[in-house]
Amino acid sequence: MITVVGGGLIGLATALRLADRGHEVTLQDPAPASGATHHAGGMLAPVAEVVYRQEPLFPLMLRSAELYPGLMGIVEKHTALPTGYRTEGTLVVAADRADATHLAELAEYQAGHAMSAERLPLRQARALEPALSPHLAGAVHIPGDHQVNPRLFAAALLDALTALSVPIVRTQADTLPAGPVILANGLGAGALYPGLKLRPVYGDILRLGVPTHLRPLLTRVVRGFVEDRPVYLIPRTDDTIAIGATSREDDRPVPRTGAVHDLLRDAGRLVPGIEECDFLEATTGARPGTPDDLPYLGKVNENLIVSTGYFRHGILLTALAADVAVHLVEGTDPGIDLAACDPHRHKE
Ligand SMILES: Cc1cc2nc3c(=O)[nH]c(=O)nc-3n(C[C@H](O)[C@H](O)[C@H](O)COP(=O)(O)OP(=O)(O)OC[C@H]3O[C@@H](n4cnc5c(N)ncnc54)[C@H](O)[C@@H]3O)c2cc1C
Repeated sequence: MITVVGGGLIGLATALRLADRGHEVTLQDPAPASGATHHAGGMLAPVAEVVYRQEPLFPLMLRSAELYPGLMGIVEKHTALPTGYRTEGTLVVAADRADATHLAELAEYQAGHAMSAERLPLRQARALEPALSPHLAGAVHIPGDHQVNPRLFAAALLDALTALSVPIVRTQADTLPAGPVILANGLGAGALYPGLKLRPVYGDILRLGVPTHLRPLLTRVVRGFVEDRPVYLIPRTDDTIAIGATSREDDRPVPRTGAVHDLLRDAGRLVPGIEECDFLEATTGARPGTPDDLPYLGKVNENLIVSTGYFRHGILLTALAADVAVHLVEGTDPGIDLAACDPHRHKE
């Protein structure tokens, strides 16, 4: 029996992939899907999220995006619940001319790394998304960047695990369980396997309801730069829009008033119609960060696979994490170089 410790998206999808392949699995989490997964935007954005000098991350992100449709197929085999998976693509826009320069540089960098990103005349961007402000300074279309709704996806995964008779043990693991274990409990992993250097990177995120007369306000993810500040708007299948996200390491796990204000102001510069929306929620999640922003993913001994530290990309990297875990359990080649993800690399 394999124990998956942690039922965020990483643990849930890992348990599903294993159970789907006939392995006996138990999932242990006192409150599944209550960590970063509960707060995440859900963008599957290997191209728009490209970060300079993060070369080891690209292949992982691109590979995970490739694996997503297959993972979704497996989920759909075991549950009829929705996941909010949408493949309409992403628009990245610039609020002013300096932002447009930044956007053009990013598009050039993306093209230089063989990523699909196309600069669009604003007229065309507004034809795709009429709610965009007429005062923007530039737009790029990224057809391959998709999205899920992390809360729906987690609920669907839990339902699929139940359908596969996977026991869900709702207690906290205070020590490593006996037998084969996959440690996928996000920020909690360091307490069970010392040597992992995990830290919380807080993100504030908002949820708005689109009133009936404005629906759909948007159909695809809109990301943007507003005076160099990044902001995104994610339209969900349930007529809500998520607006995010801040990034701060001040140990204050509740939404900051200034952050709510800044996010609404910047999102309103890109899509003025959000001012007509209903304000439903502001929450703060803790991303499981590592010193080099790369995950800890690998087999550390006969009985233990570590799978955590997915930082800003854990929703996207869920498909990869689950796939790699299956290969490591079965002793087959994961087909991707995991040297940069060595769980021991920060051990003193
Ligand atoms: C505001 C915000 C927006 C984000 N947007 C995106 C995005 O658009 N795209 C993207 O790819 N990523 C995004 N992320 C990052 C993403 O949310 C995380 O990388 C991802 O959720 C990590 O998943 P996880 O399963 O490893 O951890 P978590 O979701 O944190 O889950 C860990 C689980 O482990 C359990 N646990 C902890 N300790 C124990 C223990 N001792 N025993 C048993 N269980 C335990 C917890 O209860 C929890 O359920 C965002 C994050 C935030 C905060």
